[in-house]
This record gives sequence, structure tokens and C-alpha cells, in this order.
Amino acid sequence: MTKSIFEYAVIGAGLTGSAAAKYISELTSNTVLIGPSEPEDKINHKGIFGSHYDEGRITRVSDCHYGWSYLAKKSIENYSSIKSKSKIEFYDEVGNLSIGTIDYINELTEMSTKIDFEYVTDENFDLYHNYQYLNFPGNSKFILETTKAGHISPRKLVEAQKIIFKANNGTYIDDFAINIKKSNGIFVIKTNTNIEIQVDKILIATGGFTNFTNILTTNLPTKIRGRTIVLGEVNPEHISELKKYPSFIHKPNQNNNNREYTYCLPAITYPNGKTYVKIGGSKHFTHIDTYDEAIDWFKGKTNSMEIDAVTNELNAIYDEKLFTTYHTDTCVTTWTKTLYPIIDEIENNIYVSVGGNGSAAKSSDYIGYISANFFTKNQWDDNLDRNLFTLESNQL
Ligand SMILES: Cc1cc2nc3c(=O)[nH]c(=O)nc-3n(C[C@H](O)[C@H](O)[C@H](O)COP(=O)(O)OP(=O)(O)OC[C@H]3O[C@@H](n4cnc5c(N)ncnc54)[C@H](O)[C@@H]3O)c2cc1C
Repeated sequence: MTKSIFEYAVIGAGLTGSAAAKYISELTSNTVLIGPSEPEDKINHKGIFGSHYDEGRITRVSDCHYGWSYLAKKSIENYSSIKSKSKIEFYDEVGNLSIGTIDYINELTEMSTKIDFEYVTDENFDLYHNYQYLNFPGNSKFILETTKAGHISPRKLVEAQKIIFKANNGTYIDDFAINIKKSNGIFVIKTNTNIEIQVDKILIATGGFTNFTNILTTNLPTKIRGRTIVLGEVNPEHISELKKYPSFIHKPNQNNNNREYTYCLPAITYPNGKTYVKIGGSKHFTHIDTYDEAIDWFKGKTNSMEIDAVTNELNAIYDEKLFTTYHTDTCVTTWTKTLYPIIDEIENNIYVSVGGNGSAAKSSDYIGYISANFFTKNQWDDNLDRNLFTLESNQL
């Protein structure tokens, strides 16, 4: 058993935790980040999982929710600094297309009057001339953000944040916490491999596993959704063209039962050397309520209704001949009542930053920043409605 003493601990080395730890380490190097890295062999893995084991997450400033648009803008503005400090390329500015009903597009353009972002629309941009392989319903309206939008690699972003954290002399422990006890005002965090860490103050950023590893005395009011995504392997002759396509979010008329609300990443090359277009979304998610269900889900249990729904959408929007094979992957999203992360002190000196609501990857740097400030200095960014982020407002 190794014992070490720190002022601050961040539990959870995913997108939010690694960003928060980086910002805390700018104030003091007496900070420890505890969280497992990605398992190499998912099926035989004995521990927990995270929601950032992928190469593509959409990034864009536009959003129907002011707070999410603000968090995205602030985060995207910092991407170049993260890249220069870490020397990791994690962002591809290929743009993002938001397409669907007029109501949806009006909500987004209305937001651009509050949070400035640039876009072109169906009135001044010839979508199919520029992107010949896309095909949306005839009456679709759209905005296309060509700057400050595209996709990020969540895997590489976590790596980049960890590199900067370690360069600031922060200590990283590649393990997961199984217990937190308090004695004489000091917390003792115990990890799965029996390391004990003494700390004054703890920030928990443990995503979908927060209620499943016995680190909290009371569960957070979150709901976990198991999602199944489909990846179409791109025919080699189309790879270079499809890599230039924008990410898209398609919100068709919800009364049209044949169509699904989906999001899609353009061609991205994965660590196995293959290049995929990834699609997800639909109304067919799976409730995850226990540790075992979460583990089974990450090891490859899928939802066949979601597979069918998103595969149909992929083949309706992109020409089928672009893909040679299809395969699936799984992940979880963590939802809260206000649809914003819970960033709060839940017990004396125990704080949380949990609840990505399917939107936090692109915005994780600024979520980490506001979490670190609230945790270390009790400071809040007043551009964000504090009430949306409290535990109390999120009680179910
Ligand atoms: C299929 C899918 C598609 C998505 N698409 C987008 C998108 O296009 N754009 C976007 O912005 N967002 C997207 N998201 C959402 C985004 O990925 C999540 O919001 C984000 O990963 C949440 O970050 P997090 O840090 O809260 O959780 P995670 O990234 O999951 O990190 C939590 C970490 O905590 C660790 N942990 C848990 N318990 C413990 C413990 N006891 N001790 C130590 N460590 C622990 C986990 O191992 C994990 O590494 C998508 C999510 C999914 C699942």
C-alpha cells in the first residue's frame, strides 16, 4: 500500500476531470488526478470504462441552449492553446452542418444573436454542389458553420490535457477509486490496487460510473443511457473526399416516423488504420441502472433497434456505395434534470462535476475550467446561470 498526501484530488481522468485537473495544477502542483486509462482489451478488462474512447465528437458553437453554446465557444477558443502546449492534434475544423426543420434552424440562428458565430444557410450555400454524397429530405433548412466547428478526438483531447497536467507537476494515478473515508478532517481515497491517497479536498468527475463505484454516500440524481453507434467503413476511393465533409446533426420533422434525429461524423481514420463514417442518435437508447449493466454495455451489449434506426439513416443520407462494411460500438451518456452538468459541493469539501448530457466532449475544457474555479476558489462565471448547475436544481 502506497500512501501520499495532496491538497487537491480529482477523481475521474476523462474529458472533464483531465481538464479540471489541468486548471487546478496551474494553481498548485500539489494535485493528484486519479482515473484509469483506456483498457487495451475491452472484453477481458476487469475494471471500469469511460465515454471518451473514440476518435470523433462533433464540435460547434451553435446550440438551442444558451449555456451549451457559451461553453462550446469558450472551449473551442482554447483548442489552439491546448494543442500548442501538448503538441497533440485533436481538432479538425471541417465545419458542422445543422439541418432539419425551419423551427430547429430558427432556434439556432436566434442563438447567434446572443452568442456570435458565423454560418451560411440554404439561401446562400449550395449544399449538394459542395457535398455531392449527402442527401436530406427536400424541404430541409440548414446552417453550416465553416469555422470553429468540425470534430475533435476525445481520446486525444484527454491525452493532451493529461500531458499539460503532468507538465505542471501534477501527479497522475492510473487506477480507479473504490472508497473515500474521512478521518480528522482529511479524506483517504482508496484505489482498486490498494493505493491510499490523503487529500484535503476532492473533485469527482466520474461520468457514467459515478453512482456505480461506491465512492459517494448518496447517489447523484443522474440517468445513464446506453447508446449504440454504427460505423460505416469507407470505401478507400472515397476516403479523401469524405474526410473533407462537415459533421452534421439532422433534426427532421418529428412527426415523420420514418426518420430519426441523428448526428454523424465525416470520414475519420481510427487507430486500427480503417476509416469510418460514424452515426448515432435516434430515440432507441437503453437505460443503464447498475454497475453490471454498465460493464456489459461497454463490453459490447447493443440495442438492435438503435442499430437498425441509425443504419437506415446513414444509408438514406449517404450513398450506400460509399461503405464496404458496418460495425457497431457502445458508449454511455449521463443525463441530469436541467440538462447541464451538476457542478456543486455535495458534502463538505467533496465536489462533483458530472452530467455531460451527451454534449460535453467539445465543451469539456471550459467545463473543467469552471469546475476548477468553483472547487478551488468558490468562483462562478456569471454568464452561466448558476441555478442550472446545482445539485438542488437537479434533484429528480
Ligand atoms: C456515443 C456518444 C457520442 C457522443 N457525441 C458527442 C458529440 O458529438 N459532441 C459532444 O460534445 N459530446 C458528445 N458525447 C458526450 C461526451 O462524450 C460526454 O459528455 C463526455 O465524455 C463526458 O465527459 P466526462 O468527463 O463527464 O465523462 P468521461 O469522459 O466518461 O470520463 C469519466 C472518467 O471517470 C472515470 N471514472 C469513473 N469512476 C471512477 C472512479 N471511481 N475512480 C476513478 N475514475 C473513475 C472513467 O473511467 C472515465 O475515464 C457523446 C457521447 C457518446 C456516448
